[in-house]
Amino acid sequence: MLLWIYWVEQRRWFSFVLGSTSKASSISILKVIFGPLAGGLSIAGILISLCAVALLTLATAIGGLVLWLAIGIANAFGAQSHWCRTIAITLSFAVLYGVATVWIVPIVAPAFGRVPLNCLARDDAPYAANSPLYCALNRHYVRPEMRTVLEGLAGHMAQQFPGTVTTYLDADFPFPLGLPLLPHLSHDDGGKLDVSLFYIDGRSGKARATAGAWPIGYWALSPVWPEPRRDPTCSDGGMLRWHMAFLQGRFDYLTLDAQRTSEMLDYLSDENLRAVDRIFIEPYLAKRLGSANMKVRFAGCHAARHDDHIHIEVRKPGNMP
Ligand SMILES: [Zn+2]
Repeated sequence: MLLWIYWVEQRRWFSFVLGSTSKASSISILKVIFGPLAGGLSIAGILISLCAVALLTLATAIGGLVLWLAIGIANAFGAQSHWCRTIAITLSFAVLYGVATVWIVPIVAPAFGRVPLNCLARDDAPYAANSPLYCALNRHYVRPEMRTVLEGLAGHMAQQFPGTVTTYLDADFPFPLGLPLLPHLSHDDGGKLDVSLFYIDGRSGKARATAGAWPIGYWALSPVWPEPRRDPTCSDGGMLRWHMAFLQGRFDYLTLDAQRTSEMLDYLSDENLRAVDRIFIEPYLAKRLGSANMKVRFAGCHAARHDDHIHIEVRKPGNMP
């Protein structure tokens, strides 16, 4: 009932405002600003739009705002039919999201203490997003000190193993929205980053130059254990532990590249690399890789599994030991 009253009232209000300002104009700034609330949508349409805005915000930070404006633009152009509205919203969203992601956000983010990681590997910075999707979703922003750590790690790995490209997975959003980067609960301050493990292709017997088992990067658990393993210290297997058994057959041809993964872990856990505060990896894997260091920790039974990637945390500025 409240929603219905709101819907009727806001339509009246808009008719009044628009009628007294720019009746002849087909494009209205107010309609763009008020997006799905600017009229023309049923209550169900408004609710669906608001849900889509919320989901896109949670997934990409800026996607929700862009969708809001795209709906507003479709309203402003007077797109009436279902297909016209869909096309207008889709085109507006694609153009606005692309422009914002590629040009605007990387320029604005440093004002909020976040910098973008490179999406593609370069000779002087041999690291890349495990998939371009991480950049497309604006999940590749960190504090400057984390970018320095990743650049150092990638340079070290390429020096030790020429041709090696280190890849990263989820980092953080470009702005401190107070939201965790779901499904990660701790990626919320630009100081956390997940990096891929290294693998050997069993078909060729050769190490894969680029880290990561597949484009998503997470959940390649079988290269370490024959079957997804429940940690014996976690009585219920861990509430948030995703075992992804149905995926594991996809990675049958891979084995963990213990040499390079161990080198990566040693580099990150070195006491001289003071910017790195903590590293999360499953205890059995740390043991297998010969790592015993105060920085290397178990994330806990109720955190995600860390035998498909390594989680890095850097110290907050001014908190150096
Ligand atoms: Zn993480």
